[in-house]
Formats: sequence, structure tokens, C-alpha cells
Amino acid sequence: MTTTETTTTTGTAEWPTGTMTAAALRRVGDVGLVEIPVPEPLPGTALVEPVLVGLCGTDLELLHGSAAYVRDGRVRWPHVFGHEWVGRVVALAPGTSAHVAEGDRVVGHTMISCGVCRACRSGGRNNCSRLTEVGLYGQQGAAARYIRMPVHALSAVPDAVPDTEAALVEPTVTVIAGLEAVRCGPGDRVLVLGTGTIGLLATQLATRLSGAVDVVAVDPAGAELALGLGARRALAPDDTPPGAYDVVVEASGADAAFLQSLRAAAVGGRIAAIGVPSTSVGPLDACDLVLRGISVHGVRHGLDHYDRALALYASGALSARGMTNPPLPLDRVADAFADLARASRPAPKVVLAPQG
Ligand SMILES: [Zn+2]
Ligand SMILES: [Zn+2]
Repeated sequence: MTTTETTTTTGTAEWPTGTMTAAALRRVGDVGLVEIPVPEPLPGTALVEPVLVGLCGTDLELLHGSAAYVRDGRVRWPHVFGHEWVGRVVALAPGTSAHVAEGDRVVGHTMISCGVCRACRSGGRNNCSRLTEVGLYGQQGAAARYIRMPVHALSAVPDAVPDTEAALVEPTVTVIAGLEAVRCGPGDRVLVLGTGTIGLLATQLATRLSGAVDVVAVDPAGAELALGLGARRALAPDDTPPGAYDVVVEASGADAAFLQSLRAAAVGGRIAAIGVPSTSVGPLDACDLVLRGISVHGVRHGLDHYDRALALYASGALSARGMTNPPLPLDRVADAFADLARASRPAPKVVLAPQG
């Protein structure tokens, strides 16, 4: 990292023009390469070349057309996806002052908040009513030669954080928000459902915070990874003790898992619901929920936690060990989505290297 919080820079490097290659969802079920114009400089923006782009279940839902953003018409085709990424700043738009400089490594924030709505003005950028989200709707994603980003939505990556870890920062901020919402702390008995990226990150961080994390794993490789990253026990869904956990993190998105997380919570238990089920779940026993004093926190994102996430990786408190597959070049994007659709793969995170 060549800049600090207080450094202000303005651009001198030339902003490329012409066209560029991007990986795009061309319509539901069809992914491939497209040639699109290099974004033009706008005041307050930087042009960044993405180095690694992680894919997640949301990208697969976009491809399948089941994502809310597709169903409600916010996605425009061709859709350049990619919301989990690390890159290098190529140029700043003329006259732009920034806390990052040309050549810096950066991670980009997914949510671009408006700064002027009621939520933004009261300190709740995460709940902005006029959001756009990079790679999801309203903003081109990072699976491309270049991405244009507002400089306020970039966080500089410390030298100690390798690209593979920086590419995991986006899901990490949601995990931080979830564990904050449920006030995960010393002595809490914690259960994490799921051993995908979110589940493994939650396992690592909750182990640091509480010291006692069990995971629910459906595949042996995921169980092994979670145990290697600090979990105390890996349980099959049917072996999970009911009423035994102060904190439950639902990180799987499996349709049955939300109700399972309610059953696993102890009296007064707190649930962080991060996984997004594909259908409505039920029947929900509201009587049980009230009488046992269970609180459920839907976790949207963690827009304010990017720098904290980077600091956790820089200090070694979080690790990407075993979590990431070897990166694929952009022209193998169809293979990347095929890997993403496979229930079992060597590591949970599928990664593209747009410059490779
Ligand atoms: Zn994601
Ligand atoms: Zn707003």
C-alpha cells in the first residue's frame, strides 16, 4: 500500500479508451465473453483492473434467473457480473481527489450508497433506499478488463494481505456484520450452519470471538476444512443438539436450514440469518420463538466493515487457507460457472483472473 488514510492524490496516468473484453451473462442461462466500451471517466471515479474475481451463489442465481434482481427487472443484459474482487488502480478521473493512487491494490465495495437518502443521512448506508450494487444491478461488475468505481467505494489493500485473501473481503464484511448483530462474545456456544465461504469465514471469526464453534456440514470436505480452521466439532444436520446454542449463524441458504437454526438456538438465543433460501420457509412456530425469546437478525451486508476485514487478514486473524480454487482466465468463465454449480469441489470459492 503506498497511501495512507490522510493522503490525497489526483490522477496523472492516462485513462484508457476503446473497447474491452468482459465476461457477461448474456441472458438467463447463457454466459460468455462480450466486447464492451471501456467506461469513460466520471468525476470522483477511478479505473481499476481487477486481478481476482470471486463467484458466489448469487452469481449462479443471476445465471439461472432466480435472483431477485433478475425477477424484478433490475438486471440488464448483457450483465457483467463480479462483486467480490481485488484489483489495481489504473487511473483516476481528471480532477479527482482520492485516498488511493494509481498502482495501489484495492478492493471494491459492492453497495454504492447515494449519500443523501434518509438512511444514508442517519448513518445507515447499508440500508440506503437508492442503492446500486456492483455486479448485481445498476453497476458493471469486475469480471472485465477494467471496472470504473467511485473512489469512496474503494479500500486500499495492505501489503501483508495477498490477493487470494483480499478477494474474500466482500463476503467477510457480511460475516462481521452478522456476528456484530448477534453480539457474539466470550463463552458463547456457537453453531454455524454451512461450510461454504460464508460458513468457513464465520467459523474462523466466531472461534476467535467465542472459543467454541460447532459446524453443521453436509459434505466431508467442508467438514474437514472447518475443523482445520478452528471448529470444535462438525455435525451432520440430524445430529445437531436442539436448544444448545447461544449464537447460531445460518450460512448455508439451504431451505431446511433456517428452521433448523431456530431449533438449535438455546433460550434467549440469537440467530444471524446470512444464507438466502430459494423458497419461503415454513411452517414457522412463532409461539416457540416468542416463548424461548429467540431473536433473528437478517443480515443484509456490512458496508462499513471493509477496512476492518482487511485488518483481520493483515493480522492473520482470518485466513483464506484451503478456501480458494486455482483462478481461471476470463475465457473459461463457462467452466467457472460449471464448477460453481457442482455441490462438491476442492475448495468453496471459484475465482476468475480477468488479466490472466
Ligand atoms: Zn457474493
Ligand atoms: Zn442513500
